[in-house]
Amino acid sequence: MPKYQPKNSFESPRFCGPRTFMRLPYVEQVNSDMDFIITGIPFDSGQSFRTGARFGPEAIRDFSILLRPYNPEQKINIFDYISGVDYGDLSVVPGYILETYKKIEEGLTPVVNEGIIPISLGGDHSMTLGELRAIAKKHGPVALLQFDAHSDTWDSYFEQKYNHGTVFRRAIEEGLIDVSRSIQIGMRGGLYGIEDLEDAKNLGLALYTTNEYKKLGVERMLEIIHERVGEGPVFLSFDIDFLDPVYAPGTGTPEVSGASIDDALQFVRGLTNIDFVGFDLVEVLPAYDHGQITAAGAANIVYEFITLIALRKKAKEEEALLVKARD
Ligand code: MN
Ligand code: MN
Repeated sequence: MPKYQPKNSFESPRFCGPRTFMRLPYVEQVNSDMDFIITGIPFDSGQSFRTGARFGPEAIRDFSILLRPYNPEQKINIFDYISGVDYGDLSVVPGYILETYKKIEEGLTPVVNEGIIPISLGGDHSMTLGELRAIAKKHGPVALLQFDAHSDTWDSYFEQKYNHGTVFRRAIEEGLIDVSRSIQIGMRGGLYGIEDLEDAKNLGLALYTTNEYKKLGVERMLEIIHERVGEGPVFLSFDIDFLDPVYAPGTGTPEVSGASIDDALQFVRGLTNIDFVGFDLVEVLPAYDHGQITAAGAANIVYEFITLIALRKKAKEEEALLVKARD
């Protein structure tokens, strides 16, 4: 029986207790019994339009108490196979992005070194650079799988190199991403020029706009993703603005005509048999949310991330049993 699992909601009702993610134990130290941790990164000084994503982690946690351990779509009782905790929030320095990057890297390094998969809740998308620094130190350059209305590969904004619109160009420059295996999906909305998209392709990334994925269909797009990311380590970065503002009004830079929550869940559920070494869910901005719509979508997407970790562990255990039986 995995050590760390959500509180039993038949013993204490869901609405009791502090709001940890999915009612997981709150543990601020790494332990070899953990398969994953959930951590908040409440930093929003990298946002260029609306700010307030520092309150994203708390909003996602608040909705997440409704998540239940059996995932019927994937036919798995998650905590039969894996163990995880709410690691609390990483320290950030409001207004100071370079100092915050150091803190994110320092905060995640012990997690990654212990072989635990970090799932980070944002916060704005600039934070992913700190996460990737910690992850690439252990795994080398990883494939980036990004769902987002924006490519986030500008060179600078207001002549500043570090913010949520430049994060993946910086990550590529720092050698944290294996561009030949990386893919961005969901780009849409007005641009400053076509170079906003061309630049990402020139950096070596595969890029599919929302309209392109809708024409191909989710199933075909999933095949393309699997082919692209291959067998090596992959980081999944999910910007909530991938969703249409109808499903995610609470975000910093909404773009109309996006993905439905159904498509988003179908995408994540289809990402089985991939070697994920980290996940994040960014850009939830509760002040613009209504009736927890955005937080509900975000919490359920994170739930599917956790399910993927459980499915992979289950598959590995079954494979080990088969090998043992053959010997
Ligand atoms: Mn983004
Ligand atoms: Mn975005």
